[in-house]
Amino acid sequence: MAKRFCDVALPVPLRSAFTYAVPEALASQDLIGRRVLVPFRNKPTVGIVLAYAEKPPNVMRVFEIAELLDPIPALSPKLLELGQWLSRYYVAPIGESLRAMLPPETKLRFDREYWLTDAGHAYLDELSQDGELTDTEKSERAFLRLFTKSDDGENAIPSSKVRRAQGGEAAAEGLIRRGYLAAREIAKTRNTRTQRIVAWTDDPTAAPSNEVESRVREILTAERGPLPAAKLLEEAKITRAVLARMEKSGVVRSWEEPIVPGEDPWDTDYTLPKNELNAEQSQALAEIWRWIVAGKFESALLHGVTGSGKTEVYLGAVDAALSRGKTAIILVPEIALTLWVGRIVRARFGDTVAILHSGLPDVERAREWWRVRRGEARVVVGTRSAVFAPLENLGLIIVDEEHETSYKQEETPRYNGRDTAVYRAHLEDAVVILGSATPSLETYHNARNGKYKLLELKSRVANRPLAEVRVVDLREEFRRAHKSQPISESLRAAIALRLEEKTQAMVLINRRGYSWSCLCRSCGAFVQCENCSIALTYHKNRHKLECHYCGFTANPPKRCPKCDGEYMYFVGDGAERVEEYLAAQFTSARIARLDRDTVRTKSEFQNVLGAFAKGETDVLVGTQMVAKGHDFQRVTLVGVVAADLALGRPDFRAAEKSFQLLTQVAGRAGRGELSGEVLVETYYPEHYAIQFAAKQDYEPFYEKESHFRRMLHYPPFAALASVLIRDKKVENAIRWSRALQTYFAPFEQRGVKVLGPAAAPLARLRKEYRFQFLLKSPQRSALSQALAGALDFCAKKEIPETAVVVDVDPASLT
Ligand code: ADP
Ligand code: ZN
Repeated sequence: MAKRFCDVALPVPLRSAFTYAVPEALASQDLIGRRVLVPFRNKPTVGIVLAYAEKPPNVMRVFEIAELLDPIPALSPKLLELGQWLSRYYVAPIGESLRAMLPPETKLRFDREYWLTDAGHAYLDELSQDGELTDTEKSERAFLRLFTKSDDGENAIPSSKVRRAQGGEAAAEGLIRRGYLAAREIAKTRNTRTQRIVAWTDDPTAAPSNEVESRVREILTAERGPLPAAKLLEEAKITRAVLARMEKSGVVRSWEEPIVPGEDPWDTDYTLPKNELNAEQSQALAEIWRWIVAGKFESALLHGVTGSGKTEVYLGAVDAALSRGKTAIILVPEIALTLWVGRIVRARFGDTVAILHSGLPDVERAREWWRVRRGEARVVVGTRSAVFAPLENLGLIIVDEEHETSYKQEETPRYNGRDTAVYRAHLEDAVVILGSATPSLETYHNARNGKYKLLELKSRVANRPLAEVRVVDLREEFRRAHKSQPISESLRAAIALRLEEKTQAMVLINRRGYSWSCLCRSCGAFVQCENCSIALTYHKNRHKLECHYCGFTANPPKRCPKCDGEYMYFVGDGAERVEEYLAAQFTSARIARLDRDTVRTKSEFQNVLGAFAKGETDVLVGTQMVAKGHDFQRVTLVGVVAADLALGRPDFRAAEKSFQLLTQVAGRAGRGELSGEVLVETYYPEHYAIQFAAKQDYEPFYEKESHFRRMLHYPPFAALASVLIRDKKVENAIRWSRALQTYFAPFEQRGVKVLGPAAAPLARLRKEYRFQFLLKSPQRSALSQALAGALDFCAKKEIPETAVVVDVDPASLT
């Protein structure tokens, strides 16, 4: 059949694909899964070809595909299928779903590269015997010899060289058809960034001639090994001129090295600690090996307490996949962890590891992506969207810290990377491992009812004890002290002790800024954001009130904007205030703060954490950024200020999130040889989330929490979706909500419970008024049906697409 039409998904908020004509020039190509440029509403738009269409669309004018963008399909058939699932499950337009799976559209240039196959080598040998050759054979021999002369090791030559040879590309194509040559499209490497690496000279007789040079030798040989020049200048505290002189005298040498995208350019010296697996780790890994060898879909929860060595099990699992010729994805919950985990994985598996996350510059991300697509990388470490990594022959997906809500994308398509991982593994007959010390209720529920297998690591490696957790009752503290301080007296004393014994402390406070709000003593009004129904946070160093939702800022008022009262005061201590207090209390201590106000870039983040890891800081104050991942050996105290903040939220996950955060934080203490203590400050010491987190005891927490969830018909005992209606005009938001109410009502008879419309917990955000429906059903299919028609209904009623936000399996209900 002549392929004359095809369906193209476009990244527009419409639910269908559009049919275009295939131009003559592309008729012989397989277009499915490739990106094309098409005219849409008079503008050139990038789309993805979904399928060929039988007949022309029923419209006046059919447009043609203008340009083919990808030399090889960007999306494999399996990934196209995953995209279609994503679109259905999360009620998102197909074009937008597919776009989320693709690398940024950059102007990567492609080139063709040719090389000799094994058959080609054999044929060339044959032609090289002293037999009689025809003229054609002679020219073939000359042509094929081109590919043996290349000296770059790989023997692949670029199309430019082929074009210059006799016969040119046509001759090459002929030899490809006969199996003697192979070709592939490669992204042109343009101006790769490099860095200068400095090493101590190889000359064993060269000796340092002064103290500065001895210090440099010490660093470059014993302490760190060869280093980027910038790093060396910083570590040795020398100037460029000094370094230049040393190079001239020959005691150091240097060379340029490309910076591998995604790789942390500073740590050229990382070596992986060699760990012998313990019995629990071996047992879990043996199980995973069996599944990978079986080559069928399997899903499992790896439930291991903090510090139980889950990473080693992940690495072993990747090893298993690679050794069966398969590929693997490791998902981590945030960009900072791609560095940490990426480095460990690279140290083990080398260049075959690619790093994918949204923090990379577009061009680098696109290049890494195509490197994966072409099969040059077989392991991908990345954040949420790396679940779409275009690996072929996928054998394994690992989702580290699967409970983290950062796996949920908070814009269309609102997918959860973890759940998408499970579905992808299912599509590709792969094994998916969800790892956590504090699994989400959903995942543990699935492990309990047998939908997932359960692997457990019940104890910490080397039998290190879990940290001791002490709950500090703030009501009692207040009764004793008669004043409120940024941190409790107990925590203050505990920190003093650490400073004395020269170990380290971390103080976690999950609020940025100096004070949470600014309040009028006369009328009791908070100073609110102009655009949002939220109190403004005071930032002392900038002397500004700031909205943490929309970025609005204002000067702190002298008088109350509501009643003109003159007594304004600040309430609720944030991270900035806690740091200031600690600095005043412990004047000789080295105190640092890690939050979005103090670190804005990846390198700042690493510098602060790096200094803490090296023991150059005594106390680290921070928001939840400090709570994750890293392994600090000398931390013997973790203090949690205002641990119950999340408990006050109108969110059915409040207890779960509090429990997870506290347990994870407690897991940061005592990871090295030294044992640790955790202090948790709260006004609700008897709350079960706090109590069980203090015991770091997951099971009873799960029992209690799932009891409430079951009674209230919340996940995992019901499927949940939120539908938000928003507009700058409150009348519109109300009118549209009413209209949708009439649409949803009949679904009540089909097993869908419809709550609302009601004002959303954040009733106003960025100038928009927000109303919310919650839909619940014990049957996911019933819920899906109700949602599937909702967008069509809105279109019919001329409710703008941007006014309706459907969130399936919402991570939070604000
Ligand atoms: P988790 O992610 O489960 O909290 P990690 O994987 O970060 O734990 O491991 C914690 C620490 O234990 C790491 O420093 C790791 O190198 C170390 N470790 C892992 N397995 C072993 C082992 N079998 N023996 C000794 N140390 C180990
Ligand atoms: Zn605001």
